[in-house]
Amino acid sequence: MSAESCTFCRIASGEAPAIIVRQGERIIAFRDAHPVAPVHILIVPVRHLASINEVIASDVELLGEMLVLARDVAAREGVDQTGYRIVVNTGREAGQTVHHLHMHFLAGRQMSWPPG
Ligand code: 5GP
Ligand code: ZN
Repeated sequence: MSAESCTFCRIASGEAPAIIVRQGERIIAFRDAHPVAPVHILIVPVRHLASINEVIASDVELLGEMLVLARDVAAREGVDQTGYRIVVNTGREAGQTVHHLHMHFLAGRQMSWPPG
C-alpha cells in the first residue's frame, strides 16, 4: 500500500486528523478512533512498515523506542501502577485491519486472558 492511501501515514504527516498524544520524528502516538478500553492509544512508527513481518535488524532501535514511549504513555495516563496491555496484531488471523505497523496501548479496565 502506498503512503498516500495509508491512513496511518496520513495521520503521521498531518494530512488526516487524530487526537495526538505524542508526535516525534520517528514515532507518533494518537488515540484510537474506536477505543476498546478507557485508554486506547496507538503507537505508530512514522515510516511505513506494513507489519512486524517487514521489520529488519536495523529496526531494533525503533522498536525499542516504541516500548519506551509506551512506558511514558503509561505514566502520563496514570496507569503504570494499575496495569496496561500492549498488543501488536499481525496478519489476518490476528485481526490486523490497518496495514501500517502499530502497537495498541490498552488500559483502564480489567483485562481477561486469553485474548479473543
Ligand atoms: P488493527 O485491527 O489493525 O490491529 O487495529 C487498527 C486500529 O486502528 C483499530 O483499533 C481502529 O479502531 C483504529 N483506526 C482505524 N482507522 C483509524 C483512524 O483513521 N484514526 C484512528 N485514530 N484510529 C483508527
Ligand atoms: Zn502507512
